Amino acid sequence: MASTIGRRLEGKVALITGAASGIGELTARLFSKHGAKVMIADIQDDLGKKVCQDLGQTSASFVHCDVTNEVDVETAVNTTVAKYGKLDIMHNNAGIGGIENPNILKNEKSKFEKVLSVNLVGPFLGAKHAARVMIPNRSGTIITTASICSTIGGVASHAYTSSKHGALGLTRNIAVELGKYGIRVNCVSPYLVATSLVKDFFESDDERCDGVYSNLKGVVLKPEDVAEAVLFLASDESKYVSGHNLVVDGGFTIVNPKFC
Ligand code: NAD
Repeated sequence: MASTIGRRLEGKVALITGAASGIGELTARLFSKHGAKVMIADIQDDLGKKVCQDLGQTSASFVHCDVTNEVDVETAVNTTVAKYGKLDIMHNNAGIGGIENPNILKNEKSKFEKVLSVNLVGPFLGAKHAARVMIPNRSGTIITTASICSTIGGVASHAYTSSKHGALGLTRNIAVELGKYGIRVNCVSPYLVATSLVKDFFESDDERCDGVYSNLKGVVLKPEDVAEAVLFLASDESKYVSGHNLVVDGGFTIVNPKFC
């Protein structure tokens, strides 16, 4: 039998939302290196297609998908199954930063809802449609990119913190529900990662960012650091891990207990 060392996802099929940049892109690249077929789903078509091109036509495809739109998510899942025959790994990764005013009195409902719609409704729709095709196969793994903001408050916007707490709660609920079908459901929760999401956030509002940054100064992760954790949750090496929140924060939330 050929060795699969270094090819930890050989024969697996993955769908990754928000894979045109940042954590999703690096996860797509890592999954492909480990032998998976990867469907890259994003609203940034040009960037997504570029990632796809880099990985090669036999390894990756692109589908336009706005995770807030159920028809898009359903289509992305169906396109993956039509192209590669199945779906083993659903990575609900698309997300946006807090776009609201940090002052609760000035925060607008529409902006709050927009963040929840991408960061929480998106993973709900992803899990729902992934489960639809995974249940008959009695296997699969669903991973959501949450955040250290899933368990702590005060370091991001109202909606971002709420959405990531929600993503963890959703993960735990679905893990219980889908365990009997052999489907594992987990979160990966990174600390600050150097991606466009954070760049936009820090550059958007000096006053707010000064405050947030003083809480979070120190280590900044690279997206590939998070991709390695996602790979573990996606691979059979984590076959008994479900309902788990894999925190990738260099110990930040442990050494700063005032946030927990
Ligand atoms: P990023 O901006 O580089 O990537 C986010 C991707 O999501 C982009 O490609 C974007 O086009 C896509 N996207 C946005 N809205 C979408 C939608 N409606 N439908 C489909 N795709 C959409 O940022 P990132 O840091 O790589 O973010 C990935 C995930 O990691 C997010 O869920 C984010 O909340 C989470 N996260 C990031 C950090 C960080 O510090 N960067 C920390 C913890 C968690």
